[in-house]
Amino acid sequence: MSRPATDIEDILPPKPQAPHPSDCCGTGCCPCVHDIYEQDLKTWRRQCDLIRGSTQEEHQTGAAIEPHKWTEFEIIKIDQVNKNTILYSFKIPDNKSLGIKVGQHVIVKQTKNGRLYTRQYTPITDIDKQSVFEVLIKIYPNGKVTQVIKNWKVGDLIPWRGPFGDFLYTPNTYKCILMLAAGTGIAPMYQIVKSIVQNEDDETAVKLCYASKTFSDVLLRSELAEFCQYWNFTMCYYLSEEKDVRGNKRYREEAEARRLSKAEVQQELERGPLHSTLVLVCGTKSFEKDMVNSAKNANVPDENIYKF
Ligand SMILES: Cc1cc2nc3c(=O)[nH]c(=O)nc-3n(C[C@H](O)[C@H](O)[C@H](O)COP(=O)(O)OP(=O)(O)OC[C@H]3O[C@@H](n4cnc5c(N)ncnc54)[C@H](O)[C@@H]3O)c2cc1C
Repeated sequence: MSRPATDIEDILPPKPQAPHPSDCCGTGCCPCVHDIYEQDLKTWRRQCDLIRGSTQEEHQTGAAIEPHKWTEFEIIKIDQVNKNTILYSFKIPDNKSLGIKVGQHVIVKQTKNGRLYTRQYTPITDIDKQSVFEVLIKIYPNGKVTQVIKNWKVGDLIPWRGPFGDFLYTPNTYKCILMLAAGTGIAPMYQIVKSIVQNEDDETAVKLCYASKTFSDVLLRSELAEFCQYWNFTMCYYLSEEKDVRGNKRYREEAEARRLSKAEVQQELERGPLHSTLVLVCGTKSFEKDMVNSAKNANVPDENIYKF
């Protein structure tokens, strides 16, 4: 079946912007802004190839969502998780599961002032869960799409397509995974940790460093505390605006009342087996840039660093 090319082009991620010549100081920084741009460009090309190249035949049979066709799902529940984050639950008809793999995301389309926008979100429900999928969405006061999303109501039909994302997790490929997440960047990490701790045969050790402003901004806090009972999962919160870390800390939680520093990430990596460590990064652009640079400075091979 032929696919309308314009339709696919609509859902490609935006191309990274080339640095301005004045962005490079010319003193041989490692990595230089041009290296980072080249890396972003490679990732972007890979993502576009994957989206253009994937066919409906490759897509899991019995899956409720498709990469090349918008499917409407009904909102069945809305929960305000904290002051700016909402958990939306969608009904999957016919007892099907969504049909995504660990670490993959889906895309929503919304129209605002006559313009069409698409945005990526990572479902946090078990990937093989039937009949329902959930997405945790942070609402930005100046967000083009999240300002539309915050008006979604139970019963609304919302168009989604997917799955997308070229990160596919294979158990026991690495000895350690260092996860560096900020804000809603926890969503793909949560999926991956869950699949590791729930698989008794997976011996990968995971350390999560989760940056947030305060404990009340932390997402999936109870779920993460549950994961800490497994031998192969440890984590620490880095809370830049929390005044009382000791008083608000719960059982099994580790937390620091400061930002996660680049030097700290570098030190953490230098302690482990670099060539058998995977570094996963997801957060704001500046957080991702700092974390990727720290991993590179610690001599983690490029192919062992993945930015969602
Ligand atoms: C693979 C992938 C998976 C994602 N999964 C999720 C998810 O599960 N839940 C979720 O809430 N978001 C997720 N996002 C981010 C999401 O796709 C949107 O970028 C976000 O909802 C903002 O959209 P917007 O149109 O409201 O903001 P925009 O109008 O695009 O941006 C407005 C302003 O919001 C701020 N902003 C936008 N995005 C971010 C961000 N990621 N971090 C910090 N500040 C930001 C910036 O200050 C920006 O200037 C994911 C992104 C990617 C690439």
